[in-house]
This record gives sequence, C-alpha cells and structure tokens, in this order.
Amino acid sequence: MTWKLTRTELNTDDLLVNESLFATGNGYIGVRGNFEEGYGEGQTSIRGTYLNAFHDITGIEYGEKLHGFPDTQQKLLNVIDGQTLEIYLDGEKFSLFDGEVIDYEQTLHFDRGISERLVHWRSPEGKEVRISFRRLVSFTVKELFALQIRIEPLSEINEARIVSTINGDVSNFTDPNDPRVASGHAKRLEVLKAEHENGQTTVIDRTLESELEVACTAQTQVSLQDAEKEVLKEGGKITETYTLPLKEAVNFTKKNVYTDTLRHGTRVEEEGARVLDEVAAKSFGELAGDQKAYMDAFWKTTDIQIKGDDDLQEGLRFNLFHLLQSVGKDSVSNIAAKGLSGEGYEGHYFWDTEIYMFPVFLMSNPDFAKNLLMHRYSLLDAARERAKEVGHDKGALFPWRTITGNECSAFFPAGTAQYHISADIAYSFIQYYLVTKDEAFLRDYGAEVLFETARLWLDTGHFQNGQFRIDDVTGPDEYTCIVNNNYYTNAMAKHNLAWAVKAYRKLEEEDEGALSKLAEKLGLTGDETDDWALAAEQMYLPYDEERGIHAQDDTFLNKKVWDLDNTPKEKFPLLLNYHPLTLYRYQVCKQADTILAHFLLDEQDLETVRRSYEYYEKVTTHDSSLSYCVFSIMASRLGDGEKAYRYFNKTARLDLDNTHGNTKDGLHMANMGGTWLAIVYGFAGVRVKEDGLVFNPSLPEQWSGLTFRMQYQGSLVEVELGEQDRTSYTVVEGGGLSVSHKGEPIELKQGEKVTL
Ligand code: BGC
Repeated sequence: MTWKLTRTELNTDDLLVNESLFATGNGYIGVRGNFEEGYGEGQTSIRGTYLNAFHDITGIEYGEKLHGFPDTQQKLLNVIDGQTLEIYLDGEKFSLFDGEVIDYEQTLHFDRGISERLVHWRSPEGKEVRISFRRLVSFTVKELFALQIRIEPLSEINEARIVSTINGDVSNFTDPNDPRVASGHAKRLEVLKAEHENGQTTVIDRTLESELEVACTAQTQVSLQDAEKEVLKEGGKITETYTLPLKEAVNFTKKNVYTDTLRHGTRVEEEGARVLDEVAAKSFGELAGDQKAYMDAFWKTTDIQIKGDDDLQEGLRFNLFHLLQSVGKDSVSNIAAKGLSGEGYEGHYFWDTEIYMFPVFLMSNPDFAKNLLMHRYSLLDAARERAKEVGHDKGALFPWRTITGNECSAFFPAGTAQYHISADIAYSFIQYYLVTKDEAFLRDYGAEVLFETARLWLDTGHFQNGQFRIDDVTGPDEYTCIVNNNYYTNAMAKHNLAWAVKAYRKLEEEDEGALSKLAEKLGLTGDETDDWALAAEQMYLPYDEERGIHAQDDTFLNKKVWDLDNTPKEKFPLLLNYHPLTLYRYQVCKQADTILAHFLLDEQDLETVRRSYEYYEKVTTHDSSLSYCVFSIMASRLGDGEKAYRYFNKTARLDLDNTHGNTKDGLHMANMGGTWLAIVYGFAGVRVKEDGLVFNPSLPEQWSGLTFRMQYQGSLVEVELGEQDRTSYTVVEGGGLSVSHKGEPIELKQGEKVTL
C-alpha cells in the first residue's frame, strides 16, 4: 500500500485537490489528474496540461510604476488538451456522476509511474460495464503522454461509442481573490492548425506574445477491426468517434506527443510526427514496461524506507515521486513551485529549487542536480542585466521568480528585495562541488556564478566601522520586509563571498589559464577579491546579547510580538487577512529565516542555535509550507526527537491531507523536498562539510527503522538507522569513503557493512 495512492470513494468536495494529487508528469509534460470524461453539471475542474517553461509574456499593470519595476512577466500556459475521452453505451454517456458507481478505485502507482481508474458502473438505464483508464507520461520518451481505456461489458450492450478529442482552444484558470493564483490573462493561445490526416491528428497553437508554438500530434487505436471511425473538426478541436459493437472487452489507446518551440525549434510539427512514428508500434503495455524499468532505477538510489509508519511512508514516496515528475531535465527548464501539477505561482521558479529540492537530486540523481545548475547558469546574463536595472554597476541579481530569467515579481518588497536568492544559488553550486568534487564544473560554471554574486554583495552592502552591512533587503520571512542586516541574508552572503575568494585562489593555483580567461570575460581584477575577502570577514551578523540569539535583522526584536495564541484560526494564513504593513510591524514570521541559516551554514554555537530556535518558534506561523521541514531538521540537531518528529509529520502529508487548504492549485514542491531533507539532514544528521561527510543519526522513537541511500563523490551509500541508535553504513557502489559518525571518523569499504 505504500507504493501507491488510492482513493476508493468519489467525494465531490475533493475533486480539485485530487486533480493535483493524481497529476502525472515527467518534468517536461505535466497533466492534472482530471477525469477523461469530465465531471457532472456544475462541478468545477482545473483542466490542465502544462509543458515546463512553456509560457506567454503578459504585461504587469501597476497603479504607480516606479523605476526598475518589471514591465512584463511570464506565465506557464495550460496547453492543448489531449486528455478528453468520452464513452457512450447505447447512447448513454458514461459519467461517474450519473447512474450507479458499484466499485471505484483511483490509483497513482509510485513504483510503476502510471495512474489508473478502475470503475464498475451501471448506467441510469441499467447497462453495466467495467472500465479502466490508464495513463502515463513517459520518462523514456519525454514528448509522450499515453492513455488507455478498456471497456468490458457486463450486461447486453449493442453499441459503444468512444469519442476522443484533441482541443487547442484552451485557457488558464484564474482566481482574482488569491494572490498565489493568477488573476487575469486566461486566454493566451491561438490555434494555428487543427487537422486530421493519414490517421493522425495535429493541433498547433501559438502564444499571443512570446510567439512560442506547441503542437500535439496524436494517434488513436481500437483493438476491434470493425469499428467505424468518424472525424470532425470544430474550430481548434478535432474529434474522432469510434462506433463499435460491444460484445466483449475492447481496448482503446491514445498517444499524444507534445513538442514546442523551446525544445524543438521551428520543427514542432515535424518532430511531433517523428516521435509519434517512433512510438507508434509500441503497445501501452510495452510503454508501461519501459516506465517501470525507469522507475526501478530511480527508486534504487532515491527510496527511503520507514519501518513502523505506513502513512508517513506513503507520504514520503508520494513526495519523492512528484519531485521526479516535476524536475526539468532539459536546458530550458527548472522546477516550478507547484511542479507541473497546477497553476499556482504561474509555473515560476523560486529559491525553492536551490534550498529545498536541489539537495534531494544532488544526493540521489546528481545528473538532474547538475542540469538544474546549468539552467541557472543559463540565466546568468539576465541576472547581470537585472542587477544593472536595479542600480548595481556590477554583479548578478537573480530574479525572485521567473521562467526565462526576467524578474516576474510585481510586489518588490516580497519579491526583488529577496536578494538572498543570489546567495542561495551560489550555495547550491558550492554544495554541488562538495558532493561531487567536480573540479571542471567549478572552473567552467561555478566560479563565474560565485564571482558575479559576490560582486552583487559588494555593491549592495557597505563598510562601516569595521563591519560590512547590507541594508534594505528581505530575508526568507515574507512577513518582515525591507530590513537592514537580515541575519540569513548576511550569513549566506558571507558564505558566498568567502567561497568566491576560495574559488578564485583555487583557480589561481591550479588553472591560471582558465582564470585569466574568465577574469577577462568579466573584467575582474585581483583587487576585487581582496574586497570580497574583507567583506566576508567583516560581515555583520546581528546578535542580541540580552536574549543570546541571532536577531533576524536590525529592528525585528524591537517590534511588538504578534499574539498568535489569540489570533482566530480562520485568520490564517495571515497574508490573506492582514495588510502587509500590519504584518511588517510585528514580530511574526511566515517561515523559517534565522533558523534556516543555522541549518544551512551549521557553524554557530549550539546554545545560540537552541535559544534562537526557541525564540523564533514562538513567533512563526508556518504560513509558508517551506517552514516545517526546517524546524524539524533543527529540532533533530538540538536533540529534540519528539519535536522533530512532529514537524516532520506536517511535511510528509501536507498535500495528501491538504493541510494548507490550497493543494487544488498544485502541489507544494519545496515542502516535498523538505520531507527528504528532514530525514537525511534531520534524523540522519547529514552535513556536507569541506572535509567530508558527517552523520549524526537519531531515529525517532515512533519508528523501528529507517533506510535510505545517497550518492557522494561517486559512491552510493546505504544508511540504516535502527533502534537504540544503531546505525549501519554500506557502500553499495563505487569506492570506499571516510565519513564521520557522531564525531568519530569511520572508514567504509565497498560491500562491507559497518555497524555502530
Ligand atoms: C514563500 C516563499 C516561496 C514561495 C513559492 C511563498 O509563500 O514565502 O518562500 O518561495 O511561496 O513557493
């Protein structure tokens, strides 16, 4: 049961949430778990198919537009709908909202990478059938979304009609009342072509502004020879209707191939036809077989087993599976905040990637991690451009939210002002280097990112009385905006600057040729690195002597404390109920901020960390789903297993139980990564240090065991946590490793299990 998500009842209140939960995708295509045949009268669906990064450009309207505010933004589009399939039995339309549903099961299979719905249904007029719907978005042929239905008659049915549609006339979903969902610009695609020729349907759409094209090239097939087929074109919609006698079970397959300008250039139509040709001969069963093989390889390095809690195990695999379904695996894409499961946050990429999701891939599928870094690297020019727009002479300022590299945030206090994203990106390049020791990557890409972000810090901050200070930025906590010396930002910038210096000196020693080429490209002088070193050394990290904690910023601790205990439940999340200025005037946090820095940098003394944790925990609402996992990890760090477990519980099933109430708009991808972080960095106490890998394991009391694997410097290590703190390490693949276990060095050899 822990390898799948199953629903056996149809609850009309959960339809939208289930569409997100049952979404299928492969990082390129994402399809919400809508019903092929649709719902009943009056029921809303967010019917969606998305291609990662496929967007249009829309204008941003401001009441008062000031200098440097972005004019436009990008928006992920709902593209051509290939999901639709309707079934008629002797003229009666199959619908789960009519007639009688005798048996129902909807399942998302994490181990097989497919979803299915099994239905036993009796029509209002008494026709009885079993119908199964299966779908997969292929991991091996990235353009392919395949569906299969099987209809088995259980009563006399003379004639079945299967109606399959490809619809290019589509729009996005909007919600004017929720800032986290788009409020306008719903219809951004026009149909260029909708045709059916030689047994193949081709629908091509083009965006209004960005002039990107998307094609869906589709083919259908029925297992019965004497089915009659009729094709109808209505505007941007092609419908194929098969009419057939239903004496025995029939299978129907539909293969939809998606291509787009970003990946296939001007050849969307030709490439669509080519890919379809390639998969034409494969049965759905064969495609499912390929999918299973891919999933086996994925789980081999990524699975985590919890002994003693099936609900959490289900949540954990569910989250990891969706991370795989969402991660962009090509040069133009990344991981959207909602993956490809919904339209919340408009398909934008945030710091969520670097801090919450990248680490998962770094240690389970380093190739995906590398691709994510390459994608950010490809946005470096846009980030240099953005730095200039905002008023910096030098450096790179990465956009707070984006698809193609331009800033898409219209609300700068909780958008552009979150400069920390540049340090977060730098941090992920450093982590990649530490985990892979890929020197060439550091030389060719990492160094440039480190130098350009270091320049940003130098230009943003200033020296005063022996301190380097950074004014007017926003840290991760979006309930406290535009502040001086946000501890998180300063600490991350310090790390960024110090590593820029380190990378520079390293290149100076090891590859002077590469360094002088890069220096020439960037117009970089040796003096600059001296400034970086000084800024890192003198970075001001606010500390409150009285409380013995790091102050979130220069003024946070002087503000009035928000009375969380007496705030009515329905007022959460606060952002939907209070003006931002009200929130800014209080000590109240949306999410982990200082505590996150303590986790990521892991260099502060434990008592300060403990006191800070206790302090900030009391003023944090966790209104952002990015918060719980950090509090879980740091509770583990502080030895509070009970609390670590409690916070972990909140991350593992956040979407499954819709605890934030907005899963309908898409899954909370960063939190999903956070579940993994809470296990690996939390319960297993992993830290990636310059001098090696560190473990400080402690199994929650509630479990009898925990097993996971991680990739580190080319080796695959299996870690097993058992009761009474017994931990075993086995290098399953690759060379031996020296690691640290609770402060003691241990040597691991391939194939030998070391138990401590
Ligand atoms: C959080 C941000 C996050 C964004 C996208 C916001 O609610 O405060 O930290 O990047 O959601 O997930």
